[in-house]
Amino acid sequence: MNLSASSKSVEVDIKDGVCRIEGKDYPIVGYGTYPFTGNVCTEALKQAAKIGYRIIDTATYYNNFDAMAKALKVLDRSQFYIASKVWHDKQSPEDLRKDLDQTLKQLQTDYIDAYFLHMPNSKISIEKTLGAMDQLRRDKKIRHIGLSNVSVNHLKRALEVGVPITWVQIEMHPHFYDPELLKFCQEHSMIVQAWAPLGRGYISEDAPLARMGEKYGKTAAQVAIKWIVQHGCVPLPGSKNEKHMLENMAVSDFILSSEDMKEIDQRAKRGERERFNKNAIGFADEFDFSYEECWPNKCQKKSE
Ligand code: NAD
Repeated sequence: MNLSASSKSVEVDIKDGVCRIEGKDYPIVGYGTYPFTGNVCTEALKQAAKIGYRIIDTATYYNNFDAMAKALKVLDRSQFYIASKVWHDKQSPEDLRKDLDQTLKQLQTDYIDAYFLHMPNSKISIEKTLGAMDQLRRDKKIRHIGLSNVSVNHLKRALEVGVPITWVQIEMHPHFYDPELLKFCQEHSMIVQAWAPLGRGYISEDAPLARMGEKYGKTAAQVAIKWIVQHGCVPLPGSKNEKHMLENMAVSDFILSSEDMKEIDQRAKRGERERFNKNAIGFADEFDFSYEECWPNKCQKKSE
């Protein structure tokens, strides 16, 4: 059982296009800050805030906390839901606490709203890692806990620890999604955040999606974002282009028909994920690819 299930701390209201977090409404479309750093990141975040983005995604790996802090200084920090992620090699309780302290210091804030494991690490006990995260939650340094780049097996194992898990951040876009994982998250009251909702940008050139969008007077990117929202998930598009930022947020005035949802589902189901793919650029040596063996105790095989 997921302890956060009983409290329903985060809910998605698809019809109103909001993510309700402990009673407060946030626009369901969040904002991804990768790979922006320095002044580009500061200005992009200010612009995103002006447009209305409130759920903001970052990570230690993105190296942009200082830049974000400069933007937050001129904004009302309490209006934002800031999520960060700890890299796979810093997940021992001691390293995790250090990572969070450094994160808070650089962001110049007393707490972050969500703290994620960026990806699993089979070498570190998940009991210890989640136990340490839960202590940070009790100490009010973080509000919610999330896991990123996980399989259903990881989630089953993580839920056994008995720490409330609120979010699951995974790759999801019309060129790839994992319906079993999504179903599992929904059954256990974990809200999915979609990274690379625009397939790293390639979705905007997708002709079938562009044609589908014409019916609604929307672009392919907007169709992709709406498809994610209608699945009850929080998309995290990244852009520093004002036109695109506006476009990505403007998805509350249309509804994809069930036929169109199904058509995208069918394509996405057959797609290839990037992060779990050994050939994905930049990840071959960075973390453990033996996902099904990760956190092995009591872990059920996917085929079961
Ligand atoms: P994305 O799918 O959001 O695509 C970003 C690209 O699309 C950029 O090149 C941008 O210029 C372009 N773009 C944005 N809006 C557009 C529009 N309306 N029309 C045309 N092009 C548009 O991919 P991403 O940036 O890699 O992912 C989004 C966020 O997800 C990141 O910023 C980061 O916060 C998060 N992320 C998390 C993980 C993880 O492992 N948890 C991995 C990757 C990304």
